[in-house]
Amino acid sequence: MIKLSKRLQIIADYVTAGARMADIGSDHAMLPVYLLQAGKCPSAIAGELNTGPFQAAKKQIAEAGLTKVIAARQGNGLAVLTPGEADTVTIAGMGGALMVEILEAGRSAGKLAGVRELVLQPNVGEELVRKWLVLHGYVLQAETILEEDGRIYEVLHALSASHSPSSIRNEDVYDPAFLQTAMDTERKREWLYRMGPYLLRERAELLHDKWQHEHGKLQRICSQLAQSGLAESRDKEVQLREEMNAIQEVLSCLRTAKPSSSF
Ligand code: SAM
Repeated sequence: MIKLSKRLQIIADYVTAGARMADIGSDHAMLPVYLLQAGKCPSAIAGELNTGPFQAAKKQIAEAGLTKVIAARQGNGLAVLTPGEADTVTIAGMGGALMVEILEAGRSAGKLAGVRELVLQPNVGEELVRKWLVLHGYVLQAETILEEDGRIYEVLHALSASHSPSSIRNEDVYDPAFLQTAMDTERKREWLYRMGPYLLRERAELLHDKWQHEHGKLQRICSQLAQSGLAESRDKEVQLREEMNAIQEVLSCLRTAKPSSSF
């Protein structure tokens, strides 16, 4: 049985047992092969846009003797799916903007019909993905933040509203009242999207590290901008300092507030 990286294993663990799954941007098809070998999924589709990774997926599937139950398909995003043939879609290892583009194109083409579960791991731009989920009737059930090879990743697990337990609703998940800061409601909601509503409630240590790192990056940019005489540099510096203050405000609220883990 193939061994997954820590990141892919967390994604695999979120997939509901028995689901017909499709992995989009599958590269070596590690995830579908593992899920079939583990007996967790009865069938899978490995979708891949680019020829090199598509060939690698086909090879991996063939070597595992799984060509009858895993279909490798070359194509753009969810275009490789026929509506109704997947219960779960996983997309991992790409930016949030591209992920949203893929989800949105697929949704408009009806490819998400019947898809009740999404497991998404954007490398950056997580807030775009969280917003897309809310806009399109998916409810975040859980999030994991992890570190691997010196990089921090976030994995998001969402169910369609009709499959989400009634106790978990987007209004509660993104309830801005949870953040006890002086920010207005809209800004609080923005930070819930950016940092992750579950990660914030868990006060995940890695979340703290990730945003301290971001704060440091902004600090360095501000120091460079401070050396410039340009008016635009001043404006940019003010904007970045506001962002840094907001990061500190949310992080310090995590240190002091006692967040509730339930909604
Ligand atoms: N999902 C694997 C993982 O997380 O380890 C592979 C991630 S790899 C960095 C991203 C893969 O997505 C690449 O193989 C790339 O060719 C593929 N990809 C990028 N855009 C895509 C699209 N629009 N549709 C399908 N695959 C795409």
